[in-house]
Amino acid sequence: MKSFLLRSTAAAALAACCSFSVYGVSPTSSLPIVTPSVVAVSAGTPVGNPCTNASISDTCIGVPLEVTQADEQGVKRTVPLQVSVTKDVAKQVRQEFPDASAVVFRNLAEALRRGLGQDDPKVQQACAAALPSVESNVHYRVLPDVRMPAQIEAKVAQLADKAFEVAQKDVVVTSGTRTPESQASAIQEKIALGDNVQGLYKDKQAVGAILHAYREAKHEGKDAEEATGAMADVIQRQVEDGVYISNHLRDNAVDLRISDLNGWQKRMLRKAAESVPGVSVHEESIPPHFHLDIL
Ligand SMILES: [Zn+2]
Repeated sequence: MKSFLLRSTAAAALAACCSFSVYGVSPTSSLPIVTPSVVAVSAGTPVGNPCTNASISDTCIGVPLEVTQADEQGVKRTVPLQVSVTKDVAKQVRQEFPDASAVVFRNLAEALRRGLGQDDPKVQQACAAALPSVESNVHYRVLPDVRMPAQIEAKVAQLADKAFEVAQKDVVVTSGTRTPESQASAIQEKIALGDNVQGLYKDKQAVGAILHAYREAKHEGKDAEEATGAMADVIQRQVEDGVYISNHLRDNAVDLRISDLNGWQKRMLRKAAESVPGVSVHEESIPPHFHLDIL
């Protein structure tokens, strides 16, 4: 076990018992080697952590990390770890998480930014010292509350690296996986901004039913929240019938911010995105963004 990742007692017990380790390294076994894939990563708040090896500051920081992996049968396991943020952190993250290093870097960077607001000045200092080296490995940001599966985020990371190489600008992800409620809110926002919602979606029957629920709620004098609920109910029933008004409902779409890009930067971002296999780009104007379908 490498020193920078300290397993908690629970994680150690889990790793000892299970058919795969959190590092994607096969245990001693006669079973075929199966490397589970990382499906989700989330980081907690950094804590002061005494360091013994080459540290980037007097106080090392530990970032609690939860890594969820799925095996070939789709069985998920979540393992809590603690990452010691030393000067070698970038190299070690790449070694330990070869298929998900971008997702780990992004979560670590967010945790370190949160750490800047910690009460303990030593932790603040250590986070500030570590942040540039972690941030230099990740060229996109994700707005709070935006969720997406790790394999979709890996594609975002790929296109963000390519876009950064040309335009030196980070990509901002403004939307990812949506629930029926958040899809209903997104449609309502488009209505409020005067977009032609009926024309926007391919499945005219499905969008017609959602808009009907919206108009009915308005006609009955219901407020915005109740209207969202009525629309979300229709979307939920459609999903149960296998009808998806948007790939956002299926984990297969993200939106990227373009409102702060000039024409050249936009073209470069589109080119970078389209060069990643399985990604198609659609520019939407209300509000302005690139909608990416990722298959
Ligand atoms: Zn979209």
